[in-house]
Amino acid sequence: MGFKLGFFRLGTPTMASTVDRAVVEEENETMLARARELLPHLGYPVVQAKTCLYSVTPDEHFVIGSHPEHDQVAIAWGFSGHGFKFVPVVGEILADLVQHG
Ligand SMILES: Cc1cc2nc3c(=O)[nH]c(=O)nc-3n(C[C@H](O)[C@H](O)[C@H](O)COP(=O)(O)OP(=O)(O)OC[C@H]3O[C@@H](n4cnc5c(N)ncnc54)[C@H](O)[C@@H]3O)c2cc1C
Repeated sequence: MGFKLGFFRLGTPTMASTVDRAVVEEENETMLARARELLPHLGYPVVQAKTCLYSVTPDEHFVIGSHPEHDQVAIAWGFSGHGFKFVPVVGEILADLVQHG
């Protein structure tokens, strides 16, 4: 059994085109120390560590709407780390925007 762990909003602001994907050992140690506080029985080594990205808007609100120049295109982004759980409702909103404006 394994656990997938990640920092939430502690990363360095960056862009997909310029991100430094080097994993820093200090980050692993910080994450493991916190994980062991919450899950005291966690004792196994880190199997794999990767850099990942998600977009965060200034007010952390989602951006959902029609493209300003092309009504037939609906856009949703900037989920600020919460996009996955909102997939069903965002999909419904996008379908509604495209079909009914
Ligand atoms: C480590 C991590 C943990 C997270 N934890 C949570 C969580 O606990 N709960 C939660 O709700 N959300 C979480 N999120 C956020 C959530 O994953 C995102 O908000 C969500 O995946 C965004 O969905 P999306 O469809 O906008 O983008 P994505 O899921 O990034 O999908 C974009 C897709 O477009 C594809 N793509 C990109 N460029 C092109 C191109 N040029 N041509 C064709 N395809 C392309 C990509 O390959 C990708 O499949 C987490 C994110 C990360 C990184």
